[in-house]
Amino acid sequence: MATDLYAPTDVTTKYPGPPFPAAKQTGPGTVAEMEPRPDHGEESYRGSGRLAGRRALITGADSGIGRAVAIAFAREGADVVLNYLPDEEQDAQEVAELVRAAGRTAECRPGDIAGEETCRRLVADTVAALGGLDLLVMVAGQMPTVDSLEDFDTEVWHRLVDTNLSSLFWLSKAALPHLEPGASIIATSSEQGFQPSPSLLEYAVTKAGIANWVRGAAQQLAERGIRVNGVAPGPFWTPLQPVSDPPEKLEQFGGQTPYGRPGQPVEIASTYVYLASQDASFTSGEVVAVTGGVPVH
Ligand code: NAD
Ligand code: MG
Repeated sequence: MATDLYAPTDVTTKYPGPPFPAAKQTGPGTVAEMEPRPDHGEESYRGSGRLAGRRALITGADSGIGRAVAIAFAREGADVVLNYLPDEEQDAQEVAELVRAAGRTAECRPGDIAGEETCRRLVADTVAALGGLDLLVMVAGQMPTVDSLEDFDTEVWHRLVDTNLSSLFWLSKAALPHLEPGASIIATSSEQGFQPSPSLLEYAVTKAGIANWVRGAAQQLAERGIRVNGVAPGPFWTPLQPVSDPPEKLEQFGGQTPYGRPGQPVEIASTYVYLASQDASFTSGEVVAVTGGVPVH
C-alpha cells in the first residue's frame, strides 16, 4: 500500500485497520505473504541527506521495521549491510535493490545472530565491505507466544535471549573498536518491555532488558562520543505478527490502540533516522515509543 506520507491527514485512517484476513505464516515469515501489503516507504519516503556518507549495519533488515529503516537510511545517504536469517534471502534481495536504486551500497550478509561468532563476523564483514562502521542498528528479534508458565520451554528461552538480548552485547562489543565519536547505536525494544501482555512473558522480559541495556550502555559510551538509544514500537504490520500471533488475534491487530489500527513500518523509520543522525546529538539513553497513542512510559 502507498500513501502520501507527508500530506496532513487523519492519522487514524491514514492506513488500514482491522479486521484483517486471519492469516498464519511459519518460519521467519515473508513480506510477500502479507495482505494488505505493508508500506515500508518504497514509494513514499523522501530523504534529505541526514545520513550522508554514513555506514550502517542493520539486523533484521529484510522485512518489516528493518526493511523500512534500510530504505530510509539509504535515501538519507547511508551505505548499508543487511543482516537477516538465511531463509529470508528473497526478502533481503528486494531491499538491496531498493537501496541500490537510491544510489547507495547494499551488501547482504545472512547469518543467525544468536551466536557470538556470527555477530563478530558480521561486524568484521561490514567494516570490510563499507570501509568502516558508524551506525549499529539492531532490529532483529523473535516473539514466541506462550500462554502459560507451565509451557515454558528452556530451549526456546535460550534462543530468544540470545537473539533478542545477548546479540546486543556481542554486536556492540565487536563494533566498539570501529566506532568513532559521532557514531550511534540503536536497539529495538517494544511497548511489551513496559506493558507486558500475559502471553508474551518471555518476549516482554527481553524487551525490558533491551530498554535497560540502552540506558546503561549510553552512560558507559558517552565519554567516547557514542550515543545509544532505543525504539519501542507498538503494534506494527510486519511478518512477525502472522508468524507469532494466533490468526484470531491478527484479525483484530492494532484495534486496541487509540488510533484503532497498527502502524506501518514506514511510520517508524524516521525515528531511527532521527536517532542515527546528528539531529539527536544531545539525545542518548532514550527509548522512543512509537505506538499510535498507547502511553507506555
Ligand atoms: P520482522 O519479522 O519483519 O523482522 C524481524 C527480523 O528479525 C526477521 O526478518 C529476521 O531477519 C530477524 N531475525 C530473527 N531472529 C534472527 C536471528 N536469530 N538472527 C538474525 N536475524 C534474526 O518483524 P518486525 O516487526 O519488523 O520486527 C522487528 C523488531 O521490532 C523486532 O525486534 C520486534 O521484536 C520489534 N517489535 C515489533 C513489533 C511489531 O508489532 N511488529 C512491536 C514491538 C517490537
Ligand atoms: Mg523477515
